[in-house]
This record gives sequence, C-alpha cells and structure tokens, in this order.
Amino acid sequence: MTAPVPATTNSDTEWWRRAVVYQLYVRSFSDANSDGIGDLDGIRSHLPYLAALGIDAIWLNPCYPSPQIDHGYDVADYLDIEPAYGTLATFDALVAEARSHHIRIMMDIVPNHCSDQHKWFTDAVAAGRGSKERDWFWFRDGKGTNGDLPPNNWQAWFGGPAWSQVIEPDGSAGQWYLGLFTPQQPDVNWLNPLVGDAFEEILRFWFDRGVDGFRVDAVTVLGKAPGLPDAPPVPLGTPVEDIAMMNPHVVCRPEVNDVFTRMRGVVDAYEIEHPDRKLTFVTEAYTPTWDILASYIGPGQMHQSFHFDLMLASWHAPSVRKALRVAFEELAPRNLPLTWTLNNHDTQRSVTRYGRSNAAEKTSITHNNLRNVDATVDADLGLRRARAMAAFMLALPGSAYLYYGEEIGLFEVLDIPEDRLQDPMWERTGHRSRGRDGCRVPMPWTDDRATNFGFSTLPTLDSWMPQPDSYGPRNAAAQAGVPGSTLAMYTQALALRRSLTDLASNDTKWVHTDVPELIAYRRGSVGVVLNMSSAPMANPHSGELLLSSSDGTCELVPANTTMWVQLS
Ligand code: BGC
Repeated sequence: MTAPVPATTNSDTEWWRRAVVYQLYVRSFSDANSDGIGDLDGIRSHLPYLAALGIDAIWLNPCYPSPQIDHGYDVADYLDIEPAYGTLATFDALVAEARSHHIRIMMDIVPNHCSDQHKWFTDAVAAGRGSKERDWFWFRDGKGTNGDLPPNNWQAWFGGPAWSQVIEPDGSAGQWYLGLFTPQQPDVNWLNPLVGDAFEEILRFWFDRGVDGFRVDAVTVLGKAPGLPDAPPVPLGTPVEDIAMMNPHVVCRPEVNDVFTRMRGVVDAYEIEHPDRKLTFVTEAYTPTWDILASYIGPGQMHQSFHFDLMLASWHAPSVRKALRVAFEELAPRNLPLTWTLNNHDTQRSVTRYGRSNAAEKTSITHNNLRNVDATVDADLGLRRARAMAAFMLALPGSAYLYYGEEIGLFEVLDIPEDRLQDPMWERTGHRSRGRDGCRVPMPWTDDRATNFGFSTLPTLDSWMPQPDSYGPRNAAAQAGVPGSTLAMYTQALALRRSLTDLASNDTKWVHTDVPELIAYRRGSVGVVLNMSSAPMANPHSGELLLSSSDGTCELVPANTTMWVQLS
C-alpha cells in the first residue's frame, strides 16, 4: 500500500531550502513495544510532539533490516524495514500520519557499502573468483606468494586494514574485499552500472511509499583510484582513526560526481513522472575545501550538502566567523543552499562540546570532535552556549537540521560502562576511542525511571543503551510549555521562523561590531546577535525583543546568549 502524498504548491518546490529537519535516531527515540529499542510505532506516538515543536520534516537514520554492526549503516536489505523497528505497513502508517501533521519523511541511503549479510554480497562470495557477482564489490587477489597479504595498504575508517579475506566456495583461502568502514560493510563498486540500476530501484521504491528525500551517507569515499594504488605514508604517530581520511585514493575523488549524476537523474525523472512530488538529497560530506563541497551541489548533482563547519567550530568567535564567511561568500552567491546543523549521531553533543574547559580555544580538531574528551565539562555553561548557537543558527537563511534531544538540552553521556559500548569504533580503535554511543542514548520523555524515563511504554528492565539518572530532569514533559525551558526556546524559535516573513528571504546583512565575540546580522527588519564573550555587551540592534536564548533585556546581551530583535 502506498501512503497518500498531498500535492505540493509552487511555493514549496524547493521546500528543503529552508526546512527545519529533525534527525531521529530510530532506536533511541521512543520504544512502543517496550523491548528497550526504539521503533516506528514509538515515533508515530510522538508525532504530535514533533508537530508542536514546529519541524517540517523528519530524517530517519537507517531503518532497513540490518545486523546492526554499525546500527543500520550495514544494510542487509534496502527494500524492507528492520523487524525490531516495525514493518513496511508501520512505515506506511508513519508516512501517512506524518503527512497529516504536515511533516515530511526523509530516509538515510547508504550507497557506499552494504552489510556482508546482504544478498548482493553473499551471492558474490558464493559465486567465486572472476564472477559477475564479485564485480558488485571490490574483490582483489591478495599479495604475497600465497595471496595472504591484503591487496594494498589502505586502512579502514574505524581502524584496522580496509581489506578482509574470504573463504572460497571450495574451502580455500580466497580473495580480499574492500570495506572502508568495518569488514561487515563491504564497499560496493559504482563503476558497475548494475549497482546504479539497483539503487534506482531502491530510491523509487521509497519514493513510491511517500518518502520526500534522503540523507546520503558517507559520499566522499564513493570513488576509488583506478588500480587501487597504495596510500602514501602518514606521519608517524597518526591515530588509527585518522589514517583512512588521509588516503587520497579514496577521499573526495572525482568519481563521486558521477555517482551523484546517476542518483540525481533518478530524482529528476521521478519528479517529471510525478509533478506533484518535490524530492531532495542532502549529502553527508566532510570535505577538505569548500570548493569540493560546492561541486557536490546543484543541477545534476545533489540538492544540498551539510555545511559542517559551524558544527565543527569550537566556541571561538573567529572559527565561527570563518564558517559563516565560507557559507556567505562562497556558497550563497552561487545560489547554493545553506544547510546548517550543530549535532548529529556521529558527533559529541553541542551541550558537552561547548561546556568543555577548552571550548573557547581555536578549533584544532578538524573533523572529529569525538577526540576532545579530556577537558572537564561545565554542563550549565554548555547548555547556555548550545541554546545560543542554536538560536543563532535558526535565524540564518537556509535549512537547519536538529538532532533528537537537542531541543531538550541533552548532553553527551560520557560514562557509559565499557561493557555496554556498541559503536564498532570502540573495538576497532583498540579501545582508544569510546566512539559515538554517548550521543545516541534514549530520549527521556518523563521522569519515570521504571519506563526508561518514558522512552519505553511499559516498565522495562533497561534500554539498549543505558540512560544516566541525570537524563531524568531533562525530560521533555517537564519542559513542555514551561517558559525559559530549552524546549520552549526551540518551539518559539521555530514558530517565529515560520511567522516572520523576513526570515524567509535570503537577504542577510552583517552588522559590524567592534567586539570580535559579538556576531550580528539583520534579516530585513529582524536583528540577530550572538554574544560569545563571557561579559554582557551592548546590543547593536534596538527594538522589541523577540527571543532570547537566556534572559536579559534588549539593550544588553548577556554572556553566551543570542537575541532576536524586531528592529524599530
Ligand atoms: C555515518 C556513520 C556511519 C558511517 C558508515 C557515516 O558517515 O554517519 O554513522 O558509521 O557513515 O556508514
């Protein structure tokens, strides 16, 4: 059964350019069947909450059947729903009910790799050397006299070699295959046109079910250099988890654009066949330069790509200004959409990042802020700053992606017991990195400990990832409608974002301030100011205070605060 899709109007043909999208880590949002794992019925039960928050769309982290080695980024079947999360019928119901709340559904597509349990891969292993099935992946003979050494020196993202050896159907030690993340996630070969055909079928399958777009996973590694040459040596002492991203033979290669052309063609054709549908792709691309990022967006390429620089900036005004400069001077003038986010499932939560004792230092950790783990955390300061940065981001032109729980001020859980850690990063880095579980802890909805703070419907022994007691006081019910709460601030910001027509334009004028830590802009008749310093500052805008991320009057912007002002 296909979910009904309402007709769109011309005014929202590019709805994604200024949408607020709520990223939802399915296993951590809400557990309707009380097995300790979040599910689609749980999401359905909280659609009124999301509608009241004022979002435009949901992005679901992968919810396809998966052995869950990398929590769904190891897809075993792209055309079904993970049984722990529900069924296709539940999914259809979710899409339909979300529509009735004017919320669109986006999914997460993983084009670079699948699970080693996917039929494509099990068929390839079974079919043996030289078969057409093996050409769906990167199978190569090993080096050394017996072929028992990997074909090259490439390292995997989460540590360890990027190659694994299979046992051939006759029982002999066999070929090696490439898996740039874990051995359970073999990379697919996009040079094989059948791969593109298969993804076309997959995309169409979900578009037919009413899905409005996809976040596209790990796109920067879709291309592989011809001949698969050894990667150049890296400096001695480079952390294992950095080696892969320094490999020029896999990172941001030009073949990426060919994959995008293929995928965009599917969307463009689908929109012609279904003129009432307006679809989008947003890529996850951590690129070393903005011009690579820009080359990923536009006609024949992806619709949007996250501009991660703001998320990666510390609480350091020049780093924030630099992130903004790139967006406004390099991307916006070419009419490329701005796509903001401060949190996601791979990143330490902003409350914790901004609360670190070294948060105000210049950003030095370029990609992986999971690395910043030793500095102490002032959770109150972190929350105040996270609210300020969110309010600042939400008034910028472009779309904004929120990550579940940031609207209630969730922080990174830093003390998950080691025997409960599930992120493959933990094992694969030899326990050097605790990985990303700390930002994936189940959402607290109520103060009821017995139901995992309302995450589960009924009293349940435990959730898949333990919640700390300190999540209790942050629960959503306690904040709903409470002035000054983080939830109230997000709700107010999203409502204003919708109602203030000046925020709908792209018009942004930067306002010069003599204080580097005071960043200000005007959107028509709305003035926005962020005070990143630790002292109150005179507000460069005057008028009526529309929103403050903390307190204060319009004249004086308190430390670590954003204000929106209706200019007089
Ligand atoms: C996703 C990660 C995932 C990786 C491999 C990333 O970019 O966001 O969560 O582990 O891709 O699929």
